[in-house]
Amino acid sequence: MNFRKGWYRVNALEEKVCRCVDEMREEIIGFLQEIVGQASCNPPGDTRGVVRAICSKLESSQISYETFLVDEVHESVVATINAGQSPNLLFNSHIDTVPVGEESRWTYGPFSGEIVDGKLYGRGSADAKGSVAPMIMAGKVLQLCGIQLNGSLSINPVADEEMGGAKGVKHLIDTGKLKPDMVVIGEITTNEIAIAEKGIIWLEFTSYGRTAHASTPWDGVNAISKMVKFLYLLEEELTERFAARRHPLTPPPSFNFGMIKGGVKANVVADQCKAVFDRRILPFETLEGTLDEVNEIIAKAQQEDPEIKIDVKVLDYGAPLETAPEEPFVQTALDVCKEFGIKNEPVGYQQASDGRFFSEMKIPTILLGPGDPSLAHSPNEFIPVEQVIQATKMYALLAMRSLGTIS
Ligand SMILES: [Zn+2]
Repeated sequence: MNFRKGWYRVNALEEKVCRCVDEMREEIIGFLQEIVGQASCNPPGDTRGVVRAICSKLESSQISYETFLVDEVHESVVATINAGQSPNLLFNSHIDTVPVGEESRWTYGPFSGEIVDGKLYGRGSADAKGSVAPMIMAGKVLQLCGIQLNGSLSINPVADEEMGGAKGVKHLIDTGKLKPDMVVIGEITTNEIAIAEKGIIWLEFTSYGRTAHASTPWDGVNAISKMVKFLYLLEEELTERFAARRHPLTPPPSFNFGMIKGGVKANVVADQCKAVFDRRILPFETLEGTLDEVNEIIAKAQQEDPEIKIDVKVLDYGAPLETAPEEPFVQTALDVCKEFGIKNEPVGYQQASDGRFFSEMKIPTILLGPGDPSLAHSPNEFIPVEQVIQATKMYALLAMRSLGTIS
């Protein structure tokens, strides 16, 4: 693959493309307002309204596309320029959003797309319709400017990211609809290049006891007491082990006891207790290693108290994401940042994204999109309009530089 082939000529083309983005400013922002206006909160995750708006934009841009409706409501799009040519660069981002929450906490309507002081407000304005609009508009600009890419560019707005991706990107991967060589995930990174994120593991612990009457509890074994004893040890052990476990780009490893439930009545010794545990793993940690560590701590608890009987079940797993900074695709993306005065060093992404599915397949994957990550799921979510315009230019340039152009 040629990077920066024919640099001077590409540079002139790049200027043309950036000028075109500036000229289309109103259309880009108008399109973002239009898709923010199509509510797609998940649950229930109905993305059909957004998909309709996207399809009409793709049609008017002469970009061919296919839509995929997984069930009655979860719909995704794969649009491709130069279909069939390789390499394939994939722009993926999600069109579902988290729920609005308490509407009274919003100053501007959550689906209004209202612009005040250069900020466009609405649920999903940043996470992640603020990336979807510039990705599609970058495709349109490349078409309008007559740019011949030396490969294919797929633009892939997906459903269901906020609920784990099974009815969105995961479905498209499993059915062979996506075969990228390089991936850009549109998530809020303030237009910086993120190359690492933590993975998620949900574990359910079940502690077993023996029931008895509360007036003679010594006749039984209390599953709740045993669970509490174990969780206390687990917290102590993990806190100690995590102290020295760090990744340069992500937040530290973490755990959270999210739910606990046990017993049937106050006057009955509980014979069962369940606790659900969220563990965020660093890019170099694994599911197997995490289970080994937890089982080791269960064994230690049992050594201290032979009546402790606990088993563990994996409820959910999302792999961590990591792409090597030396990867040519990452370097190309960082070069694009440089043109816009954005820090050209990779960063980490705080949350989890659909990018993990591609990273798991060892496909070079980066996250890049406008917006401030801290505002993602909060009321009054907004996106700075300027960053949306900048992202449009960056996506277009990244496609040109990573695929190369044919003169
Ligand atoms: Zn997101």
